[in-house]
Amino acid sequence: MSTDCLFCKIARGEIPAPFLYEDEQVVAFRDIEPQAPQHILIIPRQHIRTTLDLSSVDNALVGHIYQVASQLARQLGFAEDGFRIVNNCNESGGQVVWHLHFHLLAGRQMGWPPG
Ligand code: AMP
Ligand code: ZN
Repeated sequence: MSTDCLFCKIARGEIPAPFLYEDEQVVAFRDIEPQAPQHILIIPRQHIRTTLDLSSVDNALVGHIYQVASQLARQLGFAEDGFRIVNNCNESGGQVVWHLHFHLLAGRQMGWPPG
């Protein structure tokens, strides 16, 4: 836990963000500045700064996050059309919030290469 981390505060319910999914390991909520018709963030409750801070003890957590993403995609009805999962790491990767998170994007045709 980090007291001054935005996503820790969201996970603890101190900053309101309606959860689309929550369990003891992760929470999912809508991005405040959506980049697609569906833009959801899936985060661990545990404060992990970046992908580089993951270790082998977190393997199940990352697998679980992907399972949650698939579950949300099915529930929200865009699994068949398709979606994109994005993790930005460090400055050049576009990371601005320093708590590990996975973007789940859908509802439009995604471009390639990504910007
Ligand atoms: P990243 O650039 O990968 O670090 O993504 C951080 C994301 O967090 C951005 O897409 C922001 O729009 C989003 N964000 C920032 N503050 C909030 C908030 N209070 N609630 C929901 N999403 C947020
Ligand atoms: Zn945090």
